[in-house]
Amino acid sequence: MTPVRTEGWPQWPPPATDEQRERLLRVLDGGRWGATAGHGEDSLVARFAEDFATGVGAAHGVCTVNGTVALFLALRALGVRPGDEVIVPAYTFVATATAVVLAGAAPVIADVTDTLHLDPSSLARLAGPRTRAVVPVHLAGAPADTEALRTAAEHHGLAVVEDAAQAHGARRHGRPAGTLGDAACFSFQLSKAMTAGEGGIVVTDDRRVYERLWALHNVGRRADDGWYEHPELGWNLRMTEFQAAVLGPQLPLLEGQIDHREARAATLARVLDDVEGLSPVPEPAGTTRHTRHLALLRYEAAAFGGHPKAVFLAAMNAEGVPLDTGYRSLTREPSLAPYAAAIRPCPVAEAAEDSVVWVRQPMLMADDAAMADIAQAALVVQHAFRRRPLRR
Ligand SMILES: *Cc1c(COP(=O)(O)O)cnc(C)c1O
Repeated sequence: MTPVRTEGWPQWPPPATDEQRERLLRVLDGGRWGATAGHGEDSLVARFAEDFATGVGAAHGVCTVNGTVALFLALRALGVRPGDEVIVPAYTFVATATAVVLAGAAPVIADVTDTLHLDPSSLARLAGPRTRAVVPVHLAGAPADTEALRTAAEHHGLAVVEDAAQAHGARRHGRPAGTLGDAACFSFQLSKAMTAGEGGIVVTDDRRVYERLWALHNVGRRADDGWYEHPELGWNLRMTEFQAAVLGPQLPLLEGQIDHREARAATLARVLDDVEGLSPVPEPAGTTRHTRHLALLRYEAAAFGGHPKAVFLAAMNAEGVPLDTGYRSLTREPSLAPYAAAIRPCPVAEAAEDSVVWVRQPMLMADDAAMADIAQAALVVQHAFRRRPLRR
């Protein structure tokens, strides 16, 4: 039988622009492949850090090798030390927690709300004498409820580090992700809305935090000291000029790409109205710009003859619609268990494992007909599943 969709899906990243090619070649031929001088240096990395920070309304930016070390760097710069604890949500990419481990601290795994974002009310239960910071994740491109989180964080004396790896250009009550905490981290890994294959950035409004970020990412150096002066412990987490050459020209394209995905997400929600048991996961109230890195959908097995999520995903794939299974709750990540603080059950995140599926960003770069194909494939699968329900 022919699948519902035979046409492919858009590639990500989109084809390179002329400007990316030119900048990349200029770096290659110029020979200055890395940015190694002080704060004021005229490098592509320094220029991109400034432009990106300005774009999200933050005063300063420090580019890094990737998003994971950006989180590590932000945590260290905000005072997280070995033996401390850092609160992270249960439904996120594992790097949110492994960055905490990298900083020598223990992740404290908190449950999420019905939007799958960190539940602010969990701080009162989880913050203890060793808790130093909290890392809200702007999941799927929608900012977490940072007002409630900041109020609770202030009460407990915690720093707030935004994990904005999926949220370039997102806004909450009109305020950009990147200005909703003490520091914010973005990723430029291959799957992200802006990418250089790998890469990351930390942005902050606080000059003092910026100075710390800069020193720690540059082997503990000070901008005006010598190359072999390391007044404090630091690491080489610097981005290359190649990465910045590829990233710079993407900045002016971002808003248009978000608009495109927003329109597709709206269409998808509309066509899914006709599919019982497959519906968008709600976004946090107060989201004014959702970047649609992912469309999160709730799968209700009962409406699909009781067939589990994995069987649904395989059937959709056979119809030419490759959805994603998404995250396992961090409470069930065996590799993390020895490093995490006492793991308490997180029922909402754990239930999401069995019921949440993703439409990824590249699929949302397709057209409206493709969104109709997603709904049509789900209807075909549902029809087949209902004819042979799972017996229990
Ligand atoms: C991608 C991602 C990261 C890590 O970024 P890398 O650049 O892959 O290291 C961290 N947190 C979240 C939520 C992510 O999606």
